[in-house]
Amino acid sequence: MVKVVRSFPAPESLEEESKKVTGKYDKQDVIDRLRKDFYNKCYICEMKELQDPNVEHLLPHKNGKYPERKFDWENLFWSCGHCNSIKNNGKYDDGIIDCCRQDPEKYLKFQIKNDNVVIDVNNFDNEVQKRTALLIEETFSLKNTGMRTYTSNERLRLLQKEMNILYRQLEKIHNNPDSKITLRILRSLLRRESAFAAFKRYYVREHAIEYPGLQQYVELDS
Ligand SMILES: [Zn+2]
Repeated sequence: MVKVVRSFPAPESLEEESKKVTGKYDKQDVIDRLRKDFYNKCYICEMKELQDPNVEHLLPHKNGKYPERKFDWENLFWSCGHCNSIKNNGKYDDGIIDCCRQDPEKYLKFQIKNDNVVIDVNNFDNEVQKRTALLIEETFSLKNTGMRTYTSNERLRLLQKEMNILYRQLEKIHNNPDSKITLRILRSLLRRESAFAAFKRYYVREHAIEYPGLQQYVELDS
């Protein structure tokens, strides 16, 4: 999960649709804008080029029980179906970090340990941070149905593949610190819009002594 800059004003259809009994929060203008603002990347697992994107409500509207949440532009997020369905659980009802308002990289440590995603929090007393960390971990590890076993494993596989691409480029820059081509590739790999960016950026920040020249690409949001 990385910081996302949400564009304003809100898509026009939301205001009109909110006045209807069966209004839709996923008209074309909302879809187009979310897809662009969120780099066509699931804000939870950070998988790119989604085949099954969902409009996700950060705070659930509970079938219209909270109508003000249903059409609120700032409550609409771009996620994959896998993450949306995992988050659709009472334990997440009180919300997770709003990545449009706060930089999640300031609060969470995105790690892979022994082939498992491990998200540690900075503040163990902060329930929002802890819920966010648990949700992200679950999207890579929850195996309570046959399909989830597949979709969780698939995310972990893609994450590790992306990390291996990063490690190879880091090895190259270690051997040849002045290579402009390698630097350009690394800069691209570390952009917030890239797949699984939070994990790659955390790794580079954690290895700041080995890669001082790359720290400018992984700075936190001010
Ligand atoms: Zn996802």
